[in-house]
Amino acid sequence: MGECTSKSTNEASKEKKRISNFKYYHSLRGKSAYRRYRQSEKGRRIMNILNQRWRKNNPLTYRKSHEKWRAQLIKEVFEHYGGVPPKCICCGETIFEFLTIDHLKGGGTKHRKELKRNGDHFYLWLRQNNFPLGFQVLCYNCNCGRARTLNKTCPHKLNRSES
Ligand SMILES: [Zn+2]
Ligand SMILES: [Zn+2]
Repeated sequence: MGECTSKSTNEASKEKKRISNFKYYHSLRGKSAYRRYRQSEKGRRIMNILNQRWRKNNPLTYRKSHEKWRAQLIKEVFEHYGGVPPKCICCGETIFEFLTIDHLKGGGTKHRKELKRNGDHFYLWLRQNNFPLGFQVLCYNCNCGRARTLNKTCPHKLNRSES
């Protein structure tokens, strides 16, 4: 009987501790301490290891959550440069799969190479840099069509009847 009581006291104190921990981690002080910890070198290293372990153990959940994150990132970038819903600045195409982010001064490929990463990192770079000026939404047709004319104007904008 005595054992039983001590066990339940133990459980109760554990529960009490759990609640006070929960309160602390959800308080402003706790949150900012956690943020500081995550930004510290040690914290980052440990978070990295924990993240990697979690990804390895939950590949499906990871992929799903990564895809959700990625879709949100791309949505934000395209809506910033192309409006809601995003559309091609030249022809008004709104089918999302046809759209791309165009580097106004050209050199998009070069820029992507400079980032030495694939498209996702380009989108991430745009968001991390507060959506810098100099980019616009174009559809692939307008983007490629423009590249193939002499004065780099989309064929949509050329007066065909005169030529
Ligand atoms: Zn277009
Ligand atoms: Zn066009």
